[in-house]
Amino acid sequence: MTTSAPPPAGSAAGAPGPSGGPSGGSVTDRLVEANRRYAAGFRDPGMDARPVLRVAVVACMDARLDLHAALGLELGDCHTIRNAGGVVTDDAIRSLTISQRALGTRSVILIHHTGCGLESLTEDFRHELEDEVGQRPPWAVEAFRDVDQDVRQSMQRVRTSPFLPHRDDVRGFVFDVHTGLLREIDPDS
Ligand SMILES: [Zn+2]
Repeated sequence: MTTSAPPPAGSAAGAPGPSGGPSGGSVTDRLVEANRRYAAGFRDPGMDARPVLRVAVVACMDARLDLHAALGLELGDCHTIRNAGGVVTDDAIRSLTISQRALGTRSVILIHHTGCGLESLTEDFRHELEDEVGQRPPWAVEAFRDVDQDVRQSMQRVRTSPFLPHRDDVRGFVFDVHTGLLREIDPDS
């Protein structure tokens, strides 16, 4: 993210926080204001919901990964499915299934990245949560130590899903957050 010029006195942008009042100041207020400017210049391209490139990208939610810029994607080109780690969870499979069966995608690209927050977590995270709130989450943390191996596991989950009709074109990558380059992972090594 880049810094912007200092806001004028009384502007909402000066004090971002979750509890901004009616005069603004919360990050959401800033984003809603940005949307007004976006909509002012928006021209409806008239496309339908089917991705032009017939591709779905499953990627980590990491803030340093700008998928459209990094992959040269344009509006309408692809489905993007993001979560912590870019993990192929049951819910990611749900989205991929709808993407392929209802909206015509054929290819799947998986993108993990260097320096992922999940590398510093373990499944102890779940136990600590249980200790704190008295309830164990039903989901796995999906922490990992070896990002290459985690990409292979995600590719395997796509390739073995009975719900997906298109499992041939599945490729996995690690995005380097320092260079911006993708490194492809060999599924068989
Ligand atoms: Zn990540």
